[in-house]
Amino acid sequence: MIKEVVIGTLCGAVVLTIGILIGHFGIKKNSAPSWVNDVSKDVDENLIKQFLSEVDTVQLQENLRELTKVPHMATSPGDKQTVQFVLKRWQDPESGLDKAWQQEYKVYLSFPNPDNPNKVTVVNPSNSVLFTVREREKPYSPDQEDPEVVQPFAAYSPPGNAMGKLVYANQGKPSDYHLLNQTIDLRGTIAITRYGGAGRGAKAINAAAFGVVGVLVYTDPLDINDGFMSDTNETYPHSWYLPPTGVERGSYNKDFGDLLTPYLAAKEETYRISPEDITGIPPIPTQPIGFEDAYRLICELDGKKAPDEWQGGFNCTYNFGGPGFKPTSSFNNSDVKLEIFNQGKILNSSNVMGVIRGSVEPDRYVIYGNHRDSWVHGAIDPSSGTAVMLEITRVLGRMVKQGKWRPRRSIIFGSWGAEEFGLIGSAEYTEEYFTKLSERTVGYINVDISVFANATLSASAMPSMQSVIFKATKQVSAPGSDSTSVYDNWIRYSNRTSPAHGIIPRVRYLNGAGSDYAAFVHYLGIASIDMSYTYDKSKTNARIYPAYHTAYDTFDYASKFIDPGFVSHQAVGRSAGNILIRLADSLLLPFNCNDYAESLEDYLNTAVTLYEAQLKAKDISMEPLKNAVANFRRAAEQLDKVIQSSDLANETPLNIRKINDQLMLMDRAFLNPLAFPDEYGFRHVIWASSSSGKATFPGIADAFAQAESSGSSTDWKKVHYHVSVVTQAIEGAADMLNEVI
Ligand SMILES: [Zn+2]
Repeated sequence: MIKEVVIGTLCGAVVLTIGILIGHFGIKKNSAPSWVNDVSKDVDENLIKQFLSEVDTVQLQENLRELTKVPHMATSPGDKQTVQFVLKRWQDPESGLDKAWQQEYKVYLSFPNPDNPNKVTVVNPSNSVLFTVREREKPYSPDQEDPEVVQPFAAYSPPGNAMGKLVYANQGKPSDYHLLNQTIDLRGTIAITRYGGAGRGAKAINAAAFGVVGVLVYTDPLDINDGFMSDTNETYPHSWYLPPTGVERGSYNKDFGDLLTPYLAAKEETYRISPEDITGIPPIPTQPIGFEDAYRLICELDGKKAPDEWQGGFNCTYNFGGPGFKPTSSFNNSDVKLEIFNQGKILNSSNVMGVIRGSVEPDRYVIYGNHRDSWVHGAIDPSSGTAVMLEITRVLGRMVKQGKWRPRRSIIFGSWGAEEFGLIGSAEYTEEYFTKLSERTVGYINVDISVFANATLSASAMPSMQSVIFKATKQVSAPGSDSTSVYDNWIRYSNRTSPAHGIIPRVRYLNGAGSDYAAFVHYLGIASIDMSYTYDKSKTNARIYPAYHTAYDTFDYASKFIDPGFVSHQAVGRSAGNILIRLADSLLLPFNCNDYAESLEDYLNTAVTLYEAQLKAKDISMEPLKNAVANFRRAAEQLDKVIQSSDLANETPLNIRKINDQLMLMDRAFLNPLAFPDEYGFRHVIWASSSSGKATFPGIADAFAQAESSGSSTDWKKVHYHVSVVTQAIEGAADMLNEVI
């Protein structure tokens, strides 16, 4: 019975199908289905030209003006205003995206108490206050007087009081406290440290290990202002330099993502650890201050003269501290007192997401993102990047709405929330959509601060993306020049000699966690790019643009001193947008794995030079690692040959997809979730951050430094472990490039 019925049904289906086919081809004679033309769709150079011509400086300027109207620290009323602004732009019927929405996470943040501001004072033995550090930065324009300007603070510093004799601890590195501790008993002291050299929170963590009870952090004029200090004619509002009362705010945590929900998206009912169990944040009260106040404190210090490398831009000798102040100082015998009232809060923070759906491969994503939250008005950080992102979406959105274009792959735009507190919005997003993103994302482009200054492009990326960055930047004019490209200008400021390409601009590696690319690179292993326009390092020693994270990072500052005319914003928008279109529209992903091989060979050469002799003596062979790198090179060359010899336009779609998946998934092979158990979210064994300062495989370099200093056999075993981890990862990556079976 069953059999007969099945045969009957089958026959019926065959007759019906033949009928449909006859009807179909009877009407459209011999024409192939419409998707046949679509699947071979490649980058349209005319469309790129049109995109480049439409990126507009006036639009960029107006975006920035709108984004910086009010301070918009994460979750503040100003932040909510920018959420609505971005949403409105992405839902615009004429220039918006296919869809846009707001997505909230409940995240753990840290704020000062507006009713009870943090206080730093100098107090004499009879408890009289001799000196009080400024609680707010001096205003030069109405912007800085906005009541929503948050008091300078160290996010995630614990509340509490600390009092003790002051010492100067340079940059707060372990070696700095070690040196100090040789002549001063640091127990019960307050350390003043300058920004740079060690992470913000590390300055306090390192200090606490020596019994220090409180930490002050300031920006030395030597490190940020090329020594300039006076606001009567030298600093902002007269130039881009930091005024004496300017204070760099910042997050003092070590790990990225929401601190209460490691590896879990921070939703309403998600399991949370208790705040007391958070590691990697200051264990002692910590507060940043301006250099006007730091000058007063440091120049009064008693004790031995600090080493030359510790001296900064003040016109006095930097001493260690007695501990405490000179007998001749009016602060003699006085303590420094910190009263910190920071409070932790779990609040809703929003990402704004927007999508242009791909026409041929909607299930392959190119992601472009930047954070939206700032510390104060955040004109440069991050609004210069958001202004660029909104201009790219306006131009592309209009093309889509007018029916002129639809990308081959889907494009996802992310306006991340709460980045300043620790890359939270982007990290939660990658945790929530872990599998989908790692299976389907071909690349991530991050443009946070788009313009630090207007001298040259700076880019960091996976080496496989070098060629598409070069291709795009050769097509974009350098700011203010019709005859020089961004590429030609870049090569003058920063270059290297490549065995394969000769002299080329230097594309840096993405081995830190300085912005929202971190979760994409380190946690998901997605090929990523981070780019900006930046300064001429031969002309300034500023460690970053001077108004960074202060109340002076305003529209006025950005438009007068960073990018007058918005031409650098335009150059970054054109370059990043060009790369975005190429990633989304190229038939074959524009990844060059030979360039990846070159970087691995570089890393290998350094590792062999630095470590091989000593590893041999410990019976640890580097031969497997050498073979792995050689295999990767061979696989990359072989795949390149396959690509070069293919008639791409006539390849079957499945063959194209096969090669694209090889290219997309290669970087995933570098992930090892167990390689760095002490580092949150770091799984990419080539680009993980390293404390060794050596340009080579980070796990090997750090393990080697540890083993060399301890000499313990357990530590040498760890070096062997890391050699094996890297070897296996590179073999795995090579295998992804090899013919699939
Ligand atoms: Zn930023």
